[in-house]
Amino acid sequence: MCGIVGAVAQRDVAEILVEGLRRLEYRGYDSAGVAITDDQGQLTRVRRLGKVAALSDAVAASHPTGGTGIAHTRWATHGEPSEANAHPHMSGNDIAVVHNGIIENHQTLREQLQARGYQFDSQTDTEVIAHLVDWEMQQGGDLLNAFQRTVDQLEGAYGTVVMDRRQPERLIAARSGSPLVIGLGVGENFLASDQLALLNVTRRFIYLEEGDVADISRREVTIYNQEGTPVEREVNEASAQYDAADKGQYRHYMQKEIYEQPTALTNTMEGRLGNDHVIVDAIGNGASDILAKAQHIQIIACGTSYNAGMVARYWFESLAGISCDVEIASEFRYRQFVTRPNSVLITLSQSGETADTLAALRLAKERGYMATMAICNVAGSSLVRESDLAFMTRAGTEIGVASTKAFTTQLSALLMLVTALGKMQGRIGRDKEREVVDALHHLPSSIEQALTFDKAIEQLAQDFADKHHALFLGRGEYYPIAIEAALKLKEISYIHAEAYAAGELKHGPLALIDADMPVIVIAPNNELLEKLKSNIEEVRARGGQLYVFADQDAGFTPEEGMKIIAMPHVDDIIAPVFYTIPMQQLSYHVALIKGTDVDQPRNLAKAVTVE
Ligand code: GLU
Repeated sequence: MCGIVGAVAQRDVAEILVEGLRRLEYRGYDSAGVAITDDQGQLTRVRRLGKVAALSDAVAASHPTGGTGIAHTRWATHGEPSEANAHPHMSGNDIAVVHNGIIENHQTLREQLQARGYQFDSQTDTEVIAHLVDWEMQQGGDLLNAFQRTVDQLEGAYGTVVMDRRQPERLIAARSGSPLVIGLGVGENFLASDQLALLNVTRRFIYLEEGDVADISRREVTIYNQEGTPVEREVNEASAQYDAADKGQYRHYMQKEIYEQPTALTNTMEGRLGNDHVIVDAIGNGASDILAKAQHIQIIACGTSYNAGMVARYWFESLAGISCDVEIASEFRYRQFVTRPNSVLITLSQSGETADTLAALRLAKERGYMATMAICNVAGSSLVRESDLAFMTRAGTEIGVASTKAFTTQLSALLMLVTALGKMQGRIGRDKEREVVDALHHLPSSIEQALTFDKAIEQLAQDFADKHHALFLGRGEYYPIAIEAALKLKEISYIHAEAYAAGELKHGPLALIDADMPVIVIAPNNELLEKLKSNIEEVRARGGQLYVFADQDAGFTPEEGMKIIAMPHVDDIIAPVFYTIPMQQLSYHVALIKGTDVDQPRNLAKAVTVE
């Protein structure tokens, strides 16, 4: 959920650790801390409530020296955000621990440890790890051994690192359900929960696998698998640039990421589209066989990714003629579901570490799905590694907690996938394929056009800033786009927003309509336009204030109580992606006026690696 950074070096590492945390702050940010040991075994711990900037100031003031250290940004799951609950947690003065994720059996362990005389200084689940390591060391064996025995007793999903003041120049880390990567330097080594944290110190990485424990010193890294056997893990050269995480001229990452969408979409399609066809093999080794055999698609995702899945359902059924269900991962994983014959499970996740989605994937693999596919933005993520096929969205690093480019690139990847499947099954002919591919080729430039509406939307946003509620309406595949628009507004402006399929209005939500409830309508020029116009009239007749994002040819004229934002015509097949852009801009500008923390909205975190 949050961030871990560690270093074993001959130089002072405080700055490296804090810089690493800064780069991971987008994952979790209610408190942060470091613990650093010098070669004399002098340990300094600095922790602060709030953002990494507060920790950075405290570290600058106290100048902790030493070459071995661990650091953490926290997104609280057990115990309120506070300095006492911030990591690293310690057992006595010797053992320091950082931890991502959740220890599910922490209560039992805590009681056992208390019975053994340990005092707890925090409410976190994490602190049990520190005391358990201490206890196990007292039972004999060295730090590695004690840590392995500790990890064996932990239940839950976690990544954790331990440092012992008495053994400076050594860190031991374990991965179980929460990612950890080791960064290899020259005469120094690092580790982090995301390689992004370390790109300023190395470009060579080893991804730990599930159940691995790594013993890291300045010159050596030894990795043990779940059985405790030493194993060799591949060294990867990083291709990501940290620059991707630089705000540049933009005021917020979210704004930058909105503007990056034409390039991101170009990257998603690169090498996967010919002039007039989808290159099925580019979807992955064995994709064509799987797509040809599939009889049902089950999409599993959370949040924004779920909304992308909802759009895809319309496409799978209307374009490729294959049945498709979409379900929220946290529901799917805990209900008795029936696996249909020859079903393909598609998971969608920006990070590829979304805990519920990952759990759903693991469950589905035991329950007879013909094949699994991840549509994901992070190469090397758990979802990607554990699926039969991975279709990378290549959106580039997304830092803003409210997802933008990850969503639109998911949509374009899904549209390519639908087309490939329809083609493999003979349901999409040459002409239809050409039409879709042509529309996809035009997508980046259409998005450029959509972005030019920024000024107009900025003005419109004034109308929303003092409102407490908003309603978004759409029909067909624009219904999930309306849901995503409402989610975006909720996430970053904290305005309560809901989305309805426009035909549902009269079944309840019409009762809410008054001048204080702005109603935003997504109105492309398609076969549902006339129906949508009737829905708009239903709102007008009840004194509602309408904002209609409409195709310029849809025949709307501004009237009392109705503002029209006339958008250029785009092909209906890509229009859901196109209409997403003004919705993103609207929520962004409303948030700016309200002065909220756009990139790190309250209570939310990027990469939701806990349930
Ligand atoms: N469960 C731990 C805590 O609440 C770690 C949370 C996190 O992943 O930041 O402190």
